[in-house]
Amino acid sequence: MLPATMHAAVLVAPRRVEVHAVPVPHPGPGEVLVEVTTALTCGTELKSYRQGHRLFRPPWPLGHEFVGWVAAVGEGVTSVVPGERVVAANSAPCGDCPPCRAGRTNLCQRLPELLLSGAFADYLLLSPPIVAQNLFRASPGVPDQTLAFLEPLACVVLGVESLGPRPGETVVVIGGSGPIGLLFVQLLRRAGAEPVVIGRKPNRLALARQLGASATVAAGDEMVAEVRRLIGSADAVVEITGIPSLIEQAVHLLRPGGRLLVFGGSATGATVSLDLTRVHYDELTVRGAFHHTPATVRQSLDLLTRGAITVEPLVSDRLPLQAAAEAMRRFDSGETLKLAIAPRGRPPAVA
Ligand SMILES: [Zn+2]
Ligand SMILES: [Zn+2]
Repeated sequence: MLPATMHAAVLVAPRRVEVHAVPVPHPGPGEVLVEVTTALTCGTELKSYRQGHRLFRPPWPLGHEFVGWVAAVGEGVTSVVPGERVVAANSAPCGDCPPCRAGRTNLCQRLPELLLSGAFADYLLLSPPIVAQNLFRASPGVPDQTLAFLEPLACVVLGVESLGPRPGETVVVIGGSGPIGLLFVQLLRRAGAEPVVIGRKPNRLALARQLGASATVAAGDEMVAEVRRLIGSADAVVEITGIPSLIEQAVHLLRPGGRLLVFGGSATGATVSLDLTRVHYDELTVRGAFHHTPATVRQSLDLLTRGAITVEPLVSDRLPLQAAAEAMRRFDSGETLKLAIAPRGRPPAVA
């Protein structure tokens, strides 16, 4: 029997998170209810936490990277049964809009309405498209905290595919010492490329080297000169911060024919100025990469299940659901990498 109420962490205003008692949802046809065991903080959410986000407006239930157990299934669901440990991505494409029909399912026009959130809660309801396309049984022995990286890693898999790194290429990763950057470093290394990471904190730059970075450079005024001194110019740059001034500097790092991948989301309306002589005469490529597809979600699951990607050091601490506000505050401070929220096991007393 499911309880009538549960706790859920809700972003009620910028930088204000409250844990509310809310009804436990019941799965309708094609839906699955998951009892969440682990959820992770994410940089995308941090943006909405700080300043709002075009897709996530308060009151917004937080959390979309998660692992849990099937608590109940709706009519017609046969792929999973209650009691199974599962992991899912935070959306699934509609399959029917123009981008979906063109095979660009990460750009699904119905994404805003198909986007799942609310994993910082005891229970989470998965929609029929997610159940049908992006819900997976967890392999035994793979820790929850590892599998919870399914979504961020799926986005990075898509980014690396889009960049197409070749063996021996030097790829500068700006903002490369954060959780997303450290996933990029590992996938670039696996592709045979030489990642050079630009980041702020010395301990994280050390972690980047440990996880496969060929070299690291401290972010700041000297970083372009320092990268030039180390490698000359880069075959490609991955920009993760979304900060316009850094994107402008990224262009200066590229060799003729170089590629810039704009991976980090910028504030709405943000612009940069580009040296068009370089874009034209040096044939630079500037492209974006966003979100994930069912194919990159599957690749991500495979990498995590095989233990091919190291994610344990990317989680700094684990906190109970009741401490969700504190978790977001610490995550916002920049002192931590990802934080894990653990609803199950420390159940709060429902008032
Ligand atoms: Zn995420
Ligand atoms: Zn679509």
